[in-house]
Amino acid sequence: RVSASKVAVKEGGKGKVDWEENDNIGYFIKKKLRVWCRLSSGMWGSGTIQSTSGEESFVSLSNGNVVKVPTSELLPANSEILEGVDDLMQLSYLNEPSVLHNLEYRYSRDMIYSKAGPVLIAVNPFKDVQIYGKDFVTAYRQKATDSPHVFAIADTAYNGMMDDGVNQSIIISGESGSGKTETAKHAMEYLAALGGGGAGIEGEILRANCILEAFGNAKTSRNDNSSRFSRVVQLAAGERSYHIFYQLCAGASPTLRERLNLKTANEYNYLIQSDCLVIDGVDDAQKFYKLLEALDIVQICKEEQEEAFAMLAVVLWLGNISFQVIDNENHVEALADEALTSAARLMGCAPNELMQALCTRKIRAGKDSIAKKLTMQQAIDTRDALAKFIYGSLFDWLVEQMNKSLKMGKQYTARSISILDIYGFESFKKNSFEQFCINYANERLQQHFNRHLFKLEQEEYELDGIDWTKVDFEDNQECLDLFEKKPLGLLSLLDEESNFPNATDLTFANKLKQHLNANPCFKGDRGRTFGVRHFAGEVLYDTNGFLEKNRDPLNSELVQLLSSCNEQLPQLFASKILNQSLNPAISLDGSKQSVATKFKGQLFKLMHQLENTTPHFIRCIKPNCKRLPGKYEEDLVLEQLRCYGILEVVRISRSGYPTRITHQEFAERYGFLLLENNVPQDPLSISVAVLQQFYILPEMYQIGYTKLYLRTGQIGALEDRRKQV
Ligand code: ATP
Ligand code: MG
Repeated sequence: RVSASKVAVKEGGKGKVDWEENDNIGYFIKKKLRVWCRLSSGMWGSGTIQSTSGEESFVSLSNGNVVKVPTSELLPANSEILEGVDDLMQLSYLNEPSVLHNLEYRYSRDMIYSKAGPVLIAVNPFKDVQIYGKDFVTAYRQKATDSPHVFAIADTAYNGMMDDGVNQSIIISGESGSGKTETAKHAMEYLAALGGGGAGIEGEILRANCILEAFGNAKTSRNDNSSRFSRVVQLAAGERSYHIFYQLCAGASPTLRERLNLKTANEYNYLIQSDCLVIDGVDDAQKFYKLLEALDIVQICKEEQEEAFAMLAVVLWLGNISFQVIDNENHVEALADEALTSAARLMGCAPNELMQALCTRKIRAGKDSIAKKLTMQQAIDTRDALAKFIYGSLFDWLVEQMNKSLKMGKQYTARSISILDIYGFESFKKNSFEQFCINYANERLQQHFNRHLFKLEQEEYELDGIDWTKVDFEDNQECLDLFEKKPLGLLSLLDEESNFPNATDLTFANKLKQHLNANPCFKGDRGRTFGVRHFAGEVLYDTNGFLEKNRDPLNSELVQLLSSCNEQLPQLFASKILNQSLNPAISLDGSKQSVATKFKGQLFKLMHQLENTTPHFIRCIKPNCKRLPGKYEEDLVLEQLRCYGILEVVRISRSGYPTRITHQEFAERYGFLLLENNVPQDPLSISVAVLQQFYILPEMYQIGYTKLYLRTGQIGALEDRRKQV
């Protein structure tokens, strides 16, 4: 491996390192070297050039076939010694087929991790690979191996926190099913091992993870254990709601069953609508027993556990409440059946109170208020909003409890490592409000990534006065402006329209087109549809349901109902929102915050948190959609590499100087290695003398005003020397 990296430098370098493949293709043709060409199948094939006549070349492929291809489409291939290098930076020729091939070569040998400069790439193996566990933790801790691994990232973060006292973040992104959550768990596994080998708080956090998964994950068409955030009341065919519902129905003890009047999953409307109740190979009852253990570990007492399960049962029973039309204006009343009475009893209110809250809305008329009856759809929406609210609050409550119990009696330093496992960019045939929010968040994260890797890099070089040719990168500020500009941005316009009583999804779409058509990131489309040009590609959104989903779903009747309930949890939830609405920071004009505005607020808080950390980026890649091991689909991988800008990252990092150290630090660290007698005194001269004594080539470093900048791999030799002395 070491020799491979040396070759890379030599091959690419002629004095100053020059990696531009286009300059090289003429040379390749002349020397008849190995090249990549697109085959008629659309796949890339490698071979050697046999002959070239003008615009056409004949390439002899590795399988013996000779193909005719346009010369302009040839790309240089890397020499065989570079096959499967562990950092894409080491490739002499950086082009899409070379990168794809390199990752595939590694993937087929179970080397699922690779580096793209500072970014770790993880290609989902869809099978168990023997690269985790105690021995690997030790190996990475003792630096016995340096092959790319999530453990290595966790180790760097840990050292950064402990040695430099700087907060760290590990930002894991990727498509649904690409392996983010698994990667996050492995990172935690490593950190837990460092922090005490599974005992103590670190181990508790790991075990508590199953609680978060039960309440936060669900089966989707892409991933049996997908981290999700809204799906209590509506499911697509073949998908499930949160695991916990099925676990509870399958695993609850007879006593609990009786207390909650719990049925089997197939008796609840919210669960049966998608025609999918089980996951192959998963025993929900078994999972429930594990969950109970985990709840004990994080010291959520039995009473609170039961309260939480009761709230789950409330959600399920709410879904079974049905309404009947009582007049010719389509006004409805809830049926006073088992569903209504069970839900009310578990919440701690009278059935008719619940019925009132679901079927009427108070409207202020002067000083009085009158109760207005709701229509069928309004009542269903109100019922669903309540179910979602209870579930959401339960989740928040649970997280809070876990945090409390994990902190209890422990000593804290102010330092932290945050691991962010965040849903990636989504683009489906039909995209709704959820995708709109997800993609907006990803747009922000992408900017964080860009800023960190590109902008900061350039700015630092420029500020320190070193020569560095600018590399262009895709800035997505324009797209963020499209979302965030006030008053004419997507979010503002959405809020404005959500406040008009007579607005519809169509008037909203028209409003967007009217105001935003000139924005290059916006694309008007027919009817209710509009498009956004995201960094990862164009997405068409259907505004159907946008306004309803964006409005604060919980009307005051429901809040009141909840706060008057005499069960512990609903009261807790309600008092929280009551407090919130008294908090002036929430909304300046006193109106309730919309869902999108809340989302934006949370996103900004997250970004702010991240900005004060040293970030480490992991990009997960899904090599096929069938979730099969060993299947690597070039096009699918390429799409993901492109939308993360992986090639640009490598290009930028390779032309840069990743090691930076102040003259002072450098002189202090290595000055004593100088052999000469009349050692210079000032740090800069000491540094230069060290560089010369160790024959570090001029193209391998640059001297800035304050710091010394070294290319990858240069500091290693000096460190070795220092340790020997
Ligand atoms: P979502 O966005 O839907 O939450 P995700 O990116 O979090 O998706 P995961 O749930 O982490 O995806 O991974 C999906 C599946 O891929 C896992 O259930 C597991 O089967 C497999 N997988 C992912 N990473 C690994 C790994 N390192 N080793 C073995 N299998 C893995
Ligand atoms: Mg996940």
